[in-house]
Amino acid sequence: MRLVVHPFHRFSTLFVSNVYLLDGGKGDRWLIDSGHWTERWQLGAELRRSGYRPSELTGVLLTHRHSDHAGNALWLQREFGVKIYAHRADAEVLAGTAARFRLGQKGNLLERALGAIENRWPAQLRVDRALDTGETIAGLEVHHVPGHTEGSVFYRHERTSCLMTGDTLLTARPPLTIVKDIVPPYDAYSIDVAQAHGSLDAFHAAGFPYQHVLAGHGQPLVDDARTKVLRALEKLPRPTGGAVRPHSV
Ligand SMILES: [Zn+2]
Repeated sequence: MRLVVHPFHRFSTLFVSNVYLLDGGKGDRWLIDSGHWTERWQLGAELRRSGYRPSELTGVLLTHRHSDHAGNALWLQREFGVKIYAHRADAEVLAGTAARFRLGQKGNLLERALGAIENRWPAQLRVDRALDTGETIAGLEVHHVPGHTEGSVFYRHERTSCLMTGDTLLTARPPLTIVKDIVPPYDAYSIDVAQAHGSLDAFHAAGFPYQHVLAGHGQPLVDDARTKVLRALEKLPRPTGGAVRPHSV
């Protein structure tokens, strides 16, 4: 596990997607996302190697419901009694009380295959608490940024100026996420990519400051991240016309 910005650490043995540990001391230890179920063993092993027992986690905050982020949430909940949190809209899909959007309709062969895997083995669980915009949990503000999924969120840690973005803002190019880049929500895996871009614009237009981006895929973007993100977004072609131009602060 590597320290990103205290108290955030990034798991270093997970390759499918990022999991972060917020270590605020005993009773204040949270995971941001839980990784893909194929990397369950690595998740548990790295946690223990770093001196933490899964049962002493305070909770898991999901950025969204996709199985590469929520894939170990049920296991942590069932086996270790860890509390799971997600935005209300994704919590309903995870619980099966709202319809699940089917992926695999867009993109190249690899992207369609990955979409089909998500359709076949989605994360399913009842979260312990559904979150809404305006709440703060573990010192993290909840910002609903729908479009990648129904209930995608940003978690902003005001004290350290860290922004946890899940898949609504990536720091590497999908689907393999080897090439470093600042990338908006990805068409092949998003329920409504135009809405996701709009969410990203609206978040920036509201003027929330941040210095560091801890994304769901890619290396952390440390220092001056907001400026870099805005610069990257301005250059991008938009999925539909009429993009909101973000203000700078
Ligand atoms: Zn996703």
